[in-house]
Amino acid sequence: MKVVFDPRQTAHAPEQYFRRGAFIPHPEQPLRAILLRDALAGAGHEIVTPADHGLDSLYAVHDQGYVDFFRTAWARWVEATGSTNPAVPNYHTTRRDARRPEGVIGQLGYYSTDTACPVTEGTWEAIYWSAQSALDAAERVMAGERMVYGLSRPPGHHASWDASNGFCFFNNAAAAAHHLRRRFGKVAIIDVDTHAGNGTQDIFYERGDVFFASIHVDPTDYVPYYVGYPDETGRGEGAGANLNLTLAPGSGDAEIGAAVDRALEAIRDYGAEALVVSLGFDMAHDDPLSVVRCTAEGFAATATKITRMGLPTVLVQEGGYLGPSLSNNAVVFLNACDAALG
Ligand SMILES: [Zn+2]
Repeated sequence: MKVVFDPRQTAHAPEQYFRRGAFIPHPEQPLRAILLRDALAGAGHEIVTPADHGLDSLYAVHDQGYVDFFRTAWARWVEATGSTNPAVPNYHTTRRDARRPEGVIGQLGYYSTDTACPVTEGTWEAIYWSAQSALDAAERVMAGERMVYGLSRPPGHHASWDASNGFCFFNNAAAAAHHLRRRFGKVAIIDVDTHAGNGTQDIFYERGDVFFASIHVDPTDYVPYYVGYPDETGRGEGAGANLNLTLAPGSGDAEIGAAVDRALEAIRDYGAEALVVSLGFDMAHDDPLSVVRCTAEGFAATATKITRMGLPTVLVQEGGYLGPSLSNNAVVFLNACDAALG
């Protein structure tokens, strides 16, 4: 399978993450993408670099001011603070209808909901090319390829219409899904990352042309806490086009597999003509952020079921952190897709 990746995606390299009262090494490291790329290349998958597909599909799924903020945020931050420390917001608006202030420090908090998304010198370059990798995978599928993997990093599914969250800046999967709408009438996204795709839900909640199904750990006591509950089913034209399937902590392959079956059944009923997979590997039993127990066999089973849907499919990388099985799970997943494609 073709794997779309641009080395510029490694330019964002956050060092620290504030969690449970302490600074720890930031889990979302460039090394994740390098390990995935090298393991997939070693397994015979073809690495290709993305063309530049511009900003139109990002402006379609994000507030334009939000997208443009990141282009100059670092330079403005250095000028305003006289420091080259990572730009981390320490003040947030509590209402989305609040005023957008003029200064970069206030805007940093306006366009974020946590402290997990520091802006550094290379952030714009990395998030731009991460999105381009997803868009390029979508372009290739629109041109007739059956399945392509966008190795997007930084990830995207926690980024909402106008706020970064949970290591995510631009919602790569949402941009890819919107992009696919140029050719396909109805598109579905299945999110198999262990965390709810709260940003993707936010973006498509009132849209009926993109169905969103997310399988994730019950957010009652787990990130992202505030979104991802089963009674959130969409609104307006999007009513009935949002499906949240929650897993209890400790769930294994059987429970995850049953949820994948339900999500794919709903996508079939919806009549999707193309599919985007928000592909996290952080359900792995040994992932540093995991509280469920997916094995390599579990990932392969999910890959086979998704492929057998028979839909033009874009895989977009989301979470999956520096645990022992990360690379192998990616290889197992893509190999199972290729095997099911025949
Ligand atoms: Zn995740």
